Amino acid sequence: MKEVITLGEVIVEVMAKKTNQLFIESGEFLGPYPSGAPAIFINQVAKMKVPASIIGCVGQDDFGKVCLNRLIENGVNTSLIDVDNELPTGTAFVRYQSNGSRNFIFNIRHSAAAAFYLTDVAKERLSTCAVLHVMGSSIFSHAVINMVREAIEIVRNNGGRISFDPNVREELLSDSTLFEFFKEVLANTDIFLPSGEELYALTNKQTLEDAVESALELGVSEIVLKQGADGCAFYSHNDYFFMPSFSVEEIDATGAGDTFGATYIACRELGYSPKKSLGLANASGATAVSHWGPMEGASSEEELNKFIDTFIESLEEI
Ligand code: ATP
Ligand code: MG
Repeated sequence: MKEVITLGEVIVEVMAKKTNQLFIESGEFLGPYPSGAPAIFINQVAKMKVPASIIGCVGQDDFGKVCLNRLIENGVNTSLIDVDNELPTGTAFVRYQSNGSRNFIFNIRHSAAAAFYLTDVAKERLSTCAVLHVMGSSIFSHAVINMVREAIEIVRNNGGRISFDPNVREELLSDSTLFEFFKEVLANTDIFLPSGEELYALTNKQTLEDAVESALELGVSEIVLKQGADGCAFYSHNDYFFMPSFSVEEIDATGAGDTFGATYIACRELGYSPKKSLGLANASGATAVSHWGPMEGASSEEELNKFIDTFIESLEEI
C-alpha cells in the first residue's frame, strides 16, 4: 500500500491542569505530550495500519524524543523527520477556559518545528505517495508556502491525491497572502475537510449549497464538513449525507479534527466507502475528545469498532 504523507510542526504540548488557570502565575501543568496538528494526524493514520510519514523536524532534546518515540511506537515512518542539533523542539503551552475556549503560548517559528525542508529524499517519497495531506495551521511562513506548493506539484504530477484541512483560526484568514494560497491549495484538492466557517470563507459563498457547489466545481471530489459535537456531513457530485456524532463527555477537544481527518483518509485508502469511513472517523473524533492530551485518544480500527459496538449496546439498554 502506498504512503500517506503530511508535513509540518512536530511539537510537545504542556497543558494547564485546572480550567481557568492563568499563565501569568505559577500553577500545575501536565505534559509534555506529543503534539502538532500534522503529527496528531499522521499518528492516527499509522494507528489505522496505513503507511504514514511526516516531513518535519525536532530538536536533539528530550522533547524531541517524546515525539519521535510516540510516532515510532504507533508505526509512523519517521525517516523524513530531521533532528536539529541546535534548535530546541517546538512547544505549545495551553490553558482551557470554562467556556471551552483555549489560549496558547507557542514556540514554533523559532524552534526546530519550523526547520524542515523538502529534501531530495522527501521529494522522492512524495513522488510515490498515495495522498499528501495539507494542514492549514502548518503554513506559517513563505518558506512553507513554497514547500507545500512544490510538494503538491510533485504529488499531482505523479498521480497522487491531495487532502486539505484548513484547520485555521478565523483571524488567519484575514491574511491575504495566506488566504490566496489556501484558495490555490483548494483548487488542487481532492478531499476537502473544512470545519465551520472555513468552507464558506474559502469558497467566498454565503450558503451551504453554494459553497459545496463551488468547491466541487473547483475539482474537489469529496467534502467532509466537520461539525464538532454535532457530527459531520459528506458531499460529492452524486452523494450527500449527514452523520451525527457519538455523544460522549468532552474532556479535551484538542486534536479531534486532526484525528477524525486521519481516520477518514486512512479508511478511504483502505478502500472503505465514504459512509463506512465517516462512521469510523466520527468514532475516532469521539475517542479523541474523551482523552486528555492531543493524541492520547488515537485508536486502531479494532478499538474504534469496539467503541462503536459498546456505544450501540448502551443505546439498546436504554
Ligand atoms: P480542531 O481543529 O479543534 O481539532 P475541528 O474543527 O477540525 O477541530 P471538530 O469538528 O471539532 O474538528 O471535530 C471533528 C470531529 O470529531 C467531529 O466532526 C465529530 O465527529 C468529532 N467530535 C468533535 N467534538 C466532539 C464531541 N464533543 N463529541 C463527540 N464527537 C466529537
Ligand atoms: Mg480542525
